[in-house]
Amino acid sequence: KVRVRFAPSPTGPLHIGGVRTALFNYLFAKKNGGDFVLRIEDTDQSRYVEGAEKYIVEALNWCGIPFDEGPSHVKIPKKGDFGPYRQSERKHLYEAYAMELVEKGHAYYAFDTSERLNFHRRDHEAKGKTFIYNWHNRLKLSNSLSLSADEVQQKLNAREDYVIRFKSPQDEELVLNDVIRGEIKIDTNVLDDKVLFKSDGMPTYHLANIVDDHLMEISHVIRGEEWLPSLALHQLLYNAFGWNAPAFAHLPLIMKPTGKGKLSKRDGEKGGFPVFPLSWNESQGYREAGYFPEAVVNFLALLGWNPGTEQELFTLKELIEAFTLERVNKSGARFDPDKTKWYNHQYLQHKSDAELASLFSSILKSKEKSREAWNDESVLKVVTLVKERADFVSDFWELGHYFFEAPTTYNEKALKKQWKEDTPKLMQKVADILQNTEDFSAETIETNIKSWITNNELSFGKVMGPLRLIIVGDMKGPHIFDILAVLGRGESVIRIERALG
Ligand code: GLU
Repeated sequence: KVRVRFAPSPTGPLHIGGVRTALFNYLFAKKNGGDFVLRIEDTDQSRYVEGAEKYIVEALNWCGIPFDEGPSHVKIPKKGDFGPYRQSERKHLYEAYAMELVEKGHAYYAFDTSERLNFHRRDHEAKGKTFIYNWHNRLKLSNSLSLSADEVQQKLNAREDYVIRFKSPQDEELVLNDVIRGEIKIDTNVLDDKVLFKSDGMPTYHLANIVDDHLMEISHVIRGEEWLPSLALHQLLYNAFGWNAPAFAHLPLIMKPTGKGKLSKRDGEKGGFPVFPLSWNESQGYREAGYFPEAVVNFLALLGWNPGTEQELFTLKELIEAFTLERVNKSGARFDPDKTKWYNHQYLQHKSDAELASLFSSILKSKEKSREAWNDESVLKVVTLVKERADFVSDFWELGHYFFEAPTTYNEKALKKQWKEDTPKLMQKVADILQNTEDFSAETIETNIKSWITNNELSFGKVMGPLRLIIVGDMKGPHIFDILAVLGRGESVIRIERALG
């Protein structure tokens, strides 16, 4: 059975790289009728951030990526669940596995102080070499391979600090397999004897990760490319335990818009920001910037994966249908802020006007200057008129503020160009026509004004230009007759009279 996991460490807010990893795991699981597990990897207590786990769960919820098993799962745990799903609550499990490796000769005790290790690192550096803790150096150091059994026992009895290190093999060529990258060959001589367990009773990431993936019967490990360097050790650990390793798939990095380097949280506004802030004193996230969760999920799916067709818009269900690991790219995926906005634009166009109007209403309520006269019906009309040009609900204000507040200034350049000697006379006449237009619909207003223009052989530009300037304050906006109809007779006439004032 396909079982995959998203295994974040609760060290801060969730960035889009993490969400993409979760999403690809989820899509793969659902495509194959499998389970998607959330596991919290909180063994490194020095990096633990209060509230981060709750945050991760909320961020996945906001994105609409549900997990089948996880910590504090709202559902009652089913029989066959593999919890607990927080590594800190599984602490008691790991020591026995570390000991198993020691007994089998795949791991050993090491007692080196950090001063001693630093000395060796500096010493190597001075000679232009890198210090690797493996068979090159093991015997010069303080560990159960260099010391006698008695010496080791003495140190343990004296409760000296120790770590358990993995004994990486000498002179072997390791052939690793990655679903996305194919075969990867590694010379084991470049591997460090990584620490697996510490005398404070805590496992390191590597040990806990392998033990849990095994116990939780994870079939596929899908994670970011930054974990590729750990793959050799992980495969060796599976071999040492005599367990079958899961399949591995390392997702390509998400690159900065320039294509140079990994997208980072320092690229904030350009897309590096998190799903939403972890705490009040942080800057905004995708949610605050006005992104719809469906748009975020859609653009993330296409960062590093392609459907093999021209299709760009996918519902979650369609993504599940289309997703395969074979179509995940090897090379980095460049983050494109414009494309990201384009996605939101597309999703906004597909929302109902009523939903958009209700979202926009909450923004309007916070605007002091907005005209008191706005009501649900007028907001709905405004949304219908301007949505085509909006990427975000917050754009509605910029695109349609003049519906809610009369212009107090007029675009100077346009004023110079539009305002002629006979403009006041013409505008007064327009005001009269509006006063006498009984059915104040866009069509009737248009018919009345246009027939007056034609009957008197006037120029359209000389009427329409100044009229728009008076009503909007600028030469922008949708069809002027639509604007007048939404404003209503009273407000339209007042705006003209104020301008003629
Ligand atoms: N805890 C690791 C992380 O924070 C998990 C890596 C993995 O998936 O193996 O990304």
